[in-house]
Amino acid sequence: MTVIIIGAGIGGLCLAQNLKKNGINVQVFERDASANQRLQGYRLHLDADGILAIKESLPEKLFQLFELTSTNPLPYTTILDTELKLSKRFPIDSYSKTEHHVETGIAKHLNVNRATLREILLMGLEDICHFGAKFDHYKTDESGVTAFFEDGRTVKGDMLVGADGAGSVVRKQRAPEATFMDSGARAIYGRIKIDEAQKVLPSLCIADVFTAVSDVRKLILGVGPIIFPVRPELASQSIGIDKTLNPQHDYVGCIVSGRKDFFGSNDAEIRKKTSDELQQLAIDLLSSWPSEASSVPAVGEKGSFFYIEMTSSIPFNLQPHPNVTLLGDAIHTMTPSLGRGANVALRDSTILSKALMKVVNGEKELATSLKEYETEMTEYGFNVVRHSAEMGTKLLGQDPLPN
Ligand SMILES: Cc1cc2nc3c(=O)[nH]c(=O)nc-3n(C[C@H](O)[C@H](O)[C@H](O)COP(=O)(O)OP(=O)(O)OC[C@H]3O[C@@H](n4cnc5c(N)ncnc54)[C@H](O)[C@@H]3O)c2cc1C
Repeated sequence: MTVIIIGAGIGGLCLAQNLKKNGINVQVFERDASANQRLQGYRLHLDADGILAIKESLPEKLFQLFELTSTNPLPYTTILDTELKLSKRFPIDSYSKTEHHVETGIAKHLNVNRATLREILLMGLEDICHFGAKFDHYKTDESGVTAFFEDGRTVKGDMLVGADGAGSVVRKQRAPEATFMDSGARAIYGRIKIDEAQKVLPSLCIADVFTAVSDVRKLILGVGPIIFPVRPELASQSIGIDKTLNPQHDYVGCIVSGRKDFFGSNDAEIRKKTSDELQQLAIDLLSSWPSEASSVPAVGEKGSFFYIEMTSSIPFNLQPHPNVTLLGDAIHTMTPSLGRGANVALRDSTILSKALMKVVNGEKELATSLKEYETEMTEYGFNVVRHSAEMGTKLLGQDPLPN
């Protein structure tokens, strides 16, 4: 069986690792020219879903590298008032509704640097991951599926997976019935070097998974730490992997988020702003807060700030298809209010991989196995979309999902 994956994001790469480990032919196609072409974010919180999926998918050495470069935060989501005084500290499992399966011996919560995780997920896939390949559409017939790319390339496989994120082109063809909504929430996201963060933030903010400072308008300043147990540039050497990860420093991710009307102009105008202008906008947004909290974005790293428009999928019934499916944000985009989107994408990738192994082992027909995967994936994924929207409405003033 040959599997075509569209999108070398977190979910697509984890699936490719898992299929490769299980001896299934796989090719990944990514529109970006390289893994580092775009700023995609900083700190990611991984829960048991994500960590277990990574453990099942990566070769042992790469999982070791992942653990060496992951922050072990205290498992709390903390809320502070605008003077940075403690309001509430929630055990993260109850906050995020992540009371689920976990194998003993696996950390339940880690903070990871997104770029480092992606580098690790790409290791060993160099020959099968093709950058600069923007997918356009697919055609299916009895012998399989052909993917067509914008540069005129075509690639044939037995099946195709759309792991191409929230704006998925695969989804538009595969599931035209899918609907998405503007969540009404926006954010400016940057980062603060750890020594600067330690000067302005209470120690809880450097210890816990995530801390949110919030006001009555539901304007949020969120921070979450990345403290590498071993510097990424030294980690692979220490366990005998000959490829070196890019150098990274310890930092605190810093996000200012709320209703889109707080951000002043329309999205098109804000998209034109430079990183420095966005950092200034984040500072201005908090200007009515006491100086303890309002001064935080000002110590952020120059050039690190960018703008995020948050969308959410609206749960729907995905119709079955014999050889094209979806995973991750391509089907169940959610706002980051629970920090679970990447975890669910990672979980999807292992369920799909198991479904495909049944086909390879002759236990199931491809269409039957994909239908079973999609039933489980949509039930779980759309539930998390609903929970994220509920929390987003409470915390960020996100528009509720339609009934
Ligand atoms: C501010 C913020 C904070 C977040 N924090 C967390 C967190 O702490 N924990 C968590 O679990 N989740 C978090 N998330 C959500 C998480 O980032 C996403 O859910 C996750 O990245 C989804 O993974 P994916 O593989 O489905 O899609 P993506 O990671 O978006 O990957 C999709 C890939 O497909 C490529 N692509 C798109 N179109 C095409 C095309 N036509 N042809 C070829 N390639 C294409 C893209 O370039 C991209 O590389 C956060 C999101 C935001 C915005």
